[in-house]
Amino acid sequence: MALVTQYTHFPKELLSATAETLHTLFSNPTLFHLSGKHKEPLFISVLLHGNETTGFLALQKLLLKYSQQQQQLPRSLSFFLGNTEAASLEVRRLEGQPDYNRTWPGTELAETNETQIMQEIVDIMRKKNIFASIDVHNNTGLNPHYACVNKLDNQFLQLANLFGRLVVYFTRPKGVQSGAFAEICPAVTLECGKPGQQHGVDHAFEYLNSCLHLSQLSDHPVLSQDIAVYHTVAQVKVNEDINFSFEDPQTDLLLDKDLERMNFTEISAGTQFGSIYINNKIPLTAKNEKGQIVTENFFSIIDNTLQITKNTMPSMLTLDERVIRQDCFCYLMEKLKL
Ligand SMILES: [Zn+2]
Repeated sequence: MALVTQYTHFPKELLSATAETLHTLFSNPTLFHLSGKHKEPLFISVLLHGNETTGFLALQKLLLKYSQQQQQLPRSLSFFLGNTEAASLEVRRLEGQPDYNRTWPGTELAETNETQIMQEIVDIMRKKNIFASIDVHNNTGLNPHYACVNKLDNQFLQLANLFGRLVVYFTRPKGVQSGAFAEICPAVTLECGKPGQQHGVDHAFEYLNSCLHLSQLSDHPVLSQDIAVYHTVAQVKVNEDINFSFEDPQTDLLLDKDLERMNFTEISAGTQFGSIYINNKIPLTAKNEKGQIVTENFFSIIDNTLQITKNTMPSMLTLDERVIRQDCFCYLMEKLKL
């Protein structure tokens, strides 16, 4: 029995819904297929994280444009509305739900209803001869807009470069949407800054519309002056037994409030991250893409300050303590020579 509800039209209410009210229209995972001039569909997923609304608003703007002008889509468009239940409560996911961007084929999580649904979506899109896949997200810290790829392939980099100069290449975590689709077509994840910013919606909308107009993706390499590709070399978490704060000095680890300004900035060895008020054990754990612990390759404690020990570039640093606990503290990256 199919787990995913599929439609070939959408109700006009979709054009005026908000991410919070969407759940009243579509309470189950829902996949839409709209036909256009080129038959191989562009696939877009939004709201895999319920509080990351930019992708939904950009998609809505795209649907509005073509329905108002009664214009045929230049290419068929399939789209998936992800965790509408979490969106109704403006959270990433509900307690007890898995992360909807860790349950796609290739996941290391045990099989659940969600992993079956995501497998089914990939199977359906493969049969439709999918052209390319775009998964739209937001993040919490001060980060520029960038696209992520899971394969260093010219077509993937061309697709990513259409969004902007900055590209991140990663192979972990597993079970992400773009990692699953990378097996069947060029695929990207877009990171559109913080939610609630109109320029993020406009940028994502322009990008989606450009992708709909592509007749093909070039196999040629992107000119090196037009692209900067960074590879994630470590994911950093604060150890669970550590209390941390950006404000309160009565804590184990007092983090610097300027940290998020370092996102996508090359920082040099000796850059301080905060002060330590407990024993001299590094309060963070850094893991490389193989899952090996590499904390001491990147951090040390000198005179009670937590310092970085080699030149690197952080991303996803945020001042949101809940996100640091639920997701991670930051990623560390290195520039790739293509
Ligand atoms: Zn996200």
